[in-house]
Amino acid sequence: MNINMENSFTDALSADPILENYPRTVPNASFSWVKPISFSNSEVIHISTEVLELLGLDSFDKEELEKIISGQSSFDGFQSFAMRYGGHQFGHWAGQLGDGRAINIGEINTENKKWALQLKGAGPTPYSRTADGFAVLRSSIREYLCSEAMFNLGVPTTRALSIVKSGEEVMRDVMYDGNPAYETGAIVCRVAQNFIRFGNFEILTAHKEHEELKKLCDYTITNFFKSIDSNSSDKYLSFFEKVCESTLSLIIEWERVGFVHGVMNTDNLSIMGETIDYGPYGWLEDFNPNWTPNTTDRTHKRYAFGKQASIGLWNLVRLANALYPVIKDKEALESVLTNSYQQKYLANHHQMMCQKMGISDSSPTELINGLKRCLQMTETDMTIFFRLLANISTVDTQDDMLIKIEKAFYQTPTTPQLQDWKNWFGLYSEQLIKDGFVDAERKSKMNLVNPKYVLRNYIAQLVIDDAEKGDYKLFNEINNLLKKPYAEQPEYEKWFAKRPEWARTKVGCSMLSCSS
Ligand code: AMP
Ligand code: MG
Repeated sequence: MNINMENSFTDALSADPILENYPRTVPNASFSWVKPISFSNSEVIHISTEVLELLGLDSFDKEELEKIISGQSSFDGFQSFAMRYGGHQFGHWAGQLGDGRAINIGEINTENKKWALQLKGAGPTPYSRTADGFAVLRSSIREYLCSEAMFNLGVPTTRALSIVKSGEEVMRDVMYDGNPAYETGAIVCRVAQNFIRFGNFEILTAHKEHEELKKLCDYTITNFFKSIDSNSSDKYLSFFEKVCESTLSLIIEWERVGFVHGVMNTDNLSIMGETIDYGPYGWLEDFNPNWTPNTTDRTHKRYAFGKQASIGLWNLVRLANALYPVIKDKEALESVLTNSYQQKYLANHHQMMCQKMGISDSSPTELINGLKRCLQMTETDMTIFFRLLANISTVDTQDDMLIKIEKAFYQTPTTPQLQDWKNWFGLYSEQLIKDGFVDAERKSKMNLVNPKYVLRNYIAQLVIDDAEKGDYKLFNEINNLLKKPYAEQPEYEKWFAKRPEWARTKVGCSMLSCSS
């Protein structure tokens, strides 16, 4: 089968001249040549037929593909590599990071759209620092399921082609408490137009490698930002503007579905505005803007749900600094940050919330803020609440309305809390009457933005528990369920349920570390 394989990244950018694979600082380059480990005892768990089709690999030899996704073979005409990038981690410049356990194994051009394929967990690279280059089954399942779930929710994301058990054991100290243990190793083959992060630009500027920086900007614009005129004098500023816009849209989408990335370091932000690097992410169960699943961030909660938008801006300021040598216009960069991010955020967030609530865009902000207060006052499940809110009718009394959404409460509200809820429903009802949308139409529109099913933290953990025993039935069930997150799917109704009490404090369900 003929596939259109390219090497555009390595053709356009500078290579690390050292070919041996040992950890090191790599100057004056955007990547290092490296090969995955060949895992001869590997076992394929799952290959996504949707992603196979996306890549035009549906009729590719299956045996050969299984070898490629387990590092035992490679695509003809492609030379594999790891990317060099740096990053700001938890607010501080961390220097060189790079693909410590990701190796690019292909770049397929289908109908003029490039798709980069990466094996995550296929062995060390020059960027592995003190780590091993491997990944464990639990984190690989979380990445596989969540990236596909996000895609089906309509949230920009990297995709996943496959998940493979490596056949090797990997040592991890899950909670960083001095209790390391062996775990099953795994490899995900992830797919995206490219895997360029803010950090790829930052490392070049940090080391004053301005020529390479310009090359990386030109490469990115020419190949992935085709609407920008590559001859125009302000192309780099337009590029920055587009990254601000797509990052903003992404974060609003996370807010819409209740996703908490967990580690929004600049090395984990894609230049394409896609969700990338599924680590200690989580889904809001009770609506709590101050929640983060990442135990490493427990004290400062820098990356909590409600802070993601301001962290997005903080990260874009880092990108602005990284692009300064090619733009050299501080005011212009600042005005893009203000106009294309800060000011748009309030309007876009307002619009997104109105859609979730089924009310017109001109609704008062106070109605939205009032709802946020109520959702937090009583511990209320975000996904269930918004899905049930669509059932409300303008002829309902405030008591009827409360009954319709009460399944979303984790605890029975007190009498004063019920009164606050009723007051809010009174205002909501007035807005519904004022808007005059037909109940059934409002419901169907709301159900297109309020998913019924998301990858709840405890569901992912149940899948992992079974998979670690070699049982993938639940993996397949949840993978299927999340293909249609907005559909009713009555056969899966049991997953339209609040987090069970046992999962409230269980490791993996509400507490995750970066160990993966
Ligand atoms: P993360 O916070 O998971 O995005 O990772 C930050 C940096 O650590 C990136 O450069 C990763 O490639 C690297 N890294 C994380 N885990 C490993 C590992 N097991 N082996 C090698 N590098 C790793
Ligand atoms: Mg990362």
